[in-house]
Amino acid sequence: MKSKIIRILIIDDEHYICDSCSQVYIKDGYQVDTANDGLTGIKKIKEFKPDLVLVDLKMPGMSGMQVLEEMKKIDTTIVSVVITGYATIDSAVEAMKREAFDFLPKPFTPNELRLVTRRALKKRQLILETNRLREEKDRMKENFISMVSHQLRTPLVAVQQYFEVILGGMVGAVSEEQKNMLNRSKIRIDELIKLIKEWLDFAKIDANKLVAELKPTNLIPILAKVLDTLQSLAEQNNVTLKMDIPEDLALISGNANVLEQVFLNLVENGIRYNKDEGNVTITAGMEDGYVKVEVSDTGIGISQQELPFIFEQFYQVNQGGRTDGTGLGLCIVKRVIDAHSGEIKVTSEPGRGTVFSVLLPEISFAK
Ligand code: ADP
Repeated sequence: MKSKIIRILIIDDEHYICDSCSQVYIKDGYQVDTANDGLTGIKKIKEFKPDLVLVDLKMPGMSGMQVLEEMKKIDTTIVSVVITGYATIDSAVEAMKREAFDFLPKPFTPNELRLVTRRALKKRQLILETNRLREEKDRMKENFISMVSHQLRTPLVAVQQYFEVILGGMVGAVSEEQKNMLNRSKIRIDELIKLIKEWLDFAKIDANKLVAELKPTNLIPILAKVLDTLQSLAEQNNVTLKMDIPEDLALISGNANVLEQVFLNLVENGIRYNKDEGNVTITAGMEDGYVKVEVSDTGIGISQQELPFIFEQFYQVNQGGRTDGTGLGLCIVKRVIDAHSGEIKVTSEPGRGTVFSVLLPEISFAK
């Protein structure tokens, strides 16, 4: 900000205020412009692009409050200070509510003006710096995501394909012992690819972006698709999938793609942590303005001591050396549900099964 020219716009119908403030500001090295009514002020905010706006609250035509409202629509980073001869607490409070940074009652001295101006410009500097850092963080995250997906995932997928070729006997005979070792290596690579995929899913979940993409969503086709996708995994594990959902389930405000991911994770866990001839059942209903979906299984369950930790990143319950999970699934689930202003609860009984309840705020059919 030091090297940048600082622009200040003064909007006041009293010419002498504009003139006297301008004199102080020009002397202090700022670039100044003035407007004697609200409409001209708005036009100049767009053209002059000020860092700071001084605005009189009481002007004929467009009031200072209205100028503040309009200014917010143009640029939220501009800092404003309201000046008025009617320095009542009420007008000050009202101005602060419209996000004015400070308040300067008339009459004021050049030094009072300088003090308020310095504080307001410091605030502007902080806003710009915060925005810059936020953008840089987003850029670094994007770079990291694409680095992980290209430089880690791509070679692993290539290695996986070589294994297929060798194991398929396409480059010569493979002994049983070699096959055994190659198969084990292939399983490890598959797990690594799964971990990278889940980690990428996790890194890509940006709660702010998700909220911007929420649309009226019907959960029924999403849940039906999830069951369809996981049918063959359930058969391999000798687990039966069941669904019991009312046809008139309310819509929710959601993102269908990520919600599918949520229920895929929950149902897949229900299958993987189940017993032979077990069940996974999805039920749904309405409860206090929420659509509630329950995924229950008849599996191995989770102990009370472990339950508080299962939504943490990379947390895995110790289950006798199983290595087929990543410990990221439930963490992704929780992030997505939080971004939907929903809630996830879990109850479990070791040896009997687990119930995950997902609550998502319903939107009325009238909308
Ligand atoms: P993972 O990839 O290890 O399955 P998750 O985040 O999906 O990671 O789950 C974390 C841990 O919670 C799992 O390692 C598992 O021990 C436990 N868990 C999750 N779902 C169930 C379930 N339905 N039944 C029993 N344990 C479960």
